Amino acid sequence: MVDVHCHLNFKVFDNDFDGMIKKAKEAGVSTIINVGTSLETSLKAVELAAKYKNLYAIVGIHPHHADKLEEDWQDKLKKIAQSQKVVAMGEIGLDYYSYQSNGIVDPKIQRKVFETQIQMAHELSLPLQIHNRHAGEDIIEILKAHKNVLPKAPGMLHCFAGSLDVLRSALNLGFCIGFDGNITYKGLAPGETVSLSDLCRNTPIDRIVTETDAPFLSPEPHRGGRNEPSYVIITGAKIAEIKAISQNEVDLKTTENAKRIFNI
Ligand SMILES: [Zn+2]
Ligand SMILES: [Zn+2]
Repeated sequence: MVDVHCHLNFKVFDNDFDGMIKKAKEAGVSTIINVGTSLETSLKAVELAAKYKNLYAIVGIHPHHADKLEEDWQDKLKKIAQSQKVVAMGEIGLDYYSYQSNGIVDPKIQRKVFETQIQMAHELSLPLQIHNRHAGEDIIEILKAHKNVLPKAPGMLHCFAGSLDVLRSALNLGFCIGFDGNITYKGLAPGETVSLSDLCRNTPIDRIVTETDAPFLSPEPHRGGRNEPSYVIITGAKIAEIKAISQNEVDLKTTENAKRIFNI
């Protein structure tokens, strides 16, 4: 299987990095894609990808960091994005949820930074890995407006949540959909109206990719603890259960999808 979205560049992994990578491999995770959220963590993702054969990098500015950028951020990001083993621009997008650790960044600034990175991805021929929280309609509107600069395999919406309408629009635009460990949680997340199981049921298997968002969103029974790439297997098992297909088929299809999107 592939973990298409995790943050192993965060400090919480520093002490047992090699062990964690080994554990993932032994569990059946062939490829791990590590995602930056700022210039600093994007650079770290590139450095880690250079050190480990099965590790790739995605680089970009998360909407939470959109208001903390210096004037020359575009030049710096563009340079990082041209490094070896960079497979997409992400996580980029919009976030309208107010977190304890992060208030809502001015949506105008978020939008500008998102659109700038869509254009940059176009110039570098990279697909997109999109972050969306409570901003699905605006994201779809922006993607539609940029349809002519999206690659043929445009990328994916990571850690998907939202309405069936947003899901259908994303699929119509050619995007894949990422599901995480929170698909094992009971009930709806705050502000959501459709369960992740229902969203998964409405996504064809040839459009689903698996991810952990580690260190966040540990699946049951590890909920509350540190997440890590080996747990992507649990998400795969849950998807198999929801779609009433074998775990092996989920593994084969989602791995194929990830390799197609990211050209691995
Ligand atoms: Zn995200
Ligand atoms: Zn993330």
